[in-house]
Amino acid sequence: MSPFSRGGLSLGFLAGKRALIVGLASARSIAWGISQAMRREGAELAFTYQNDKLKGRVEEMAAELGSKLTFPMDVAGDVEIDQAFSRLADAWDGLDIIVHSVAFAPRDQIAGNYLEVVNREGFRIAHEISSYSFAALAKASRRLMRGRNGALLTMTYLGAVRAVPHYNVMGLAKASLEANVRFMANDLGPEGTRVNAISAGPIKTLSAAGVSGFRKMLTHVEETAPLRRNVTIDDVGNAAAFLCSDLAAGITGEILYVDAGYSTVGMKLD
Ligand code: NAP
Repeated sequence: MSPFSRGGLSLGFLAGKRALIVGLASARSIAWGISQAMRREGAELAFTYQNDKLKGRVEEMAAELGSKLTFPMDVAGDVEIDQAFSRLADAWDGLDIIVHSVAFAPRDQIAGNYLEVVNREGFRIAHEISSYSFAALAKASRRLMRGRNGALLTMTYLGAVRAVPHYNVMGLAKASLEANVRFMANDLGPEGTRVNAISAGPIKTLSAAGVSGFRKMLTHVEETAPLRRNVTIDDVGNAAAFLCSDLAAGITGEILYVDAGYSTVGMKLD
């Protein structure tokens, strides 16, 4: 019998999986598209929020998807990360999926010319919040996830491998994050945990609005990508649900592009 059906009834392909979503800020967040797709496929969800400002909103959105599990967690602090996982462990005896959908760089770092604006502090913050935090979550969750055929997923962008105007130090942080995916996949594979990333095309979210010239980027992708459109949080959500499910059991250390094909084009046709 297929693992996705019981008694002739078809179950979602994430039935029985428990997922922690880190990085939900609004209904435009990529994390919201992922949460909706994972819930639809039968996963139970828990959420974290960065600070009290977001608490109410995240609680409401969690409730919409049948979850009462929400915890504060600023990924800048190990104590707060440990506290969040210890509260999660009180509710769940194991964890199958972590979605890391978090990035940050000071605003002055993601406008203008890279070499003119980059500085030591901006470099440190971008790398710590956007890349190191993924390893920090893996370290803190290791005991809960071990031996469950689970999956860690993070969100990256083309700026990791191409120079993109204004993306600047965030591109360097994403390159580090993609290397993190490979090193973490190598460490956690023997424990039965897979580690992957989705490289999403530009989507208008709160964070994206901070990147100078973002609207131009959307127009350019729409005109250039093979599919002649921008991707949506649902496109990313569906790919994320697949990558974190047993359907993707053979995939780890991978960067999957969900970008309407933009990254595959060398030159735009008239
Ligand atoms: P978003 O809705 O603004 O989500 C970003 C999240 O990161 C927010 O929930 C934000 O919380 C959280 N965050 C920032 N610093 C944090 C910290 N110290 N501790 C905990 N959480 C923190 O934007 P998004 O576009 O969906 O971004 C999600 C991920 O997708 C990011 O990694 C981004 O780089 C990546 N991505 C986005 C695009 C795009 O075009 N939108 C494309 C490719 C990849 P606060 O709101 O409280 O700061």
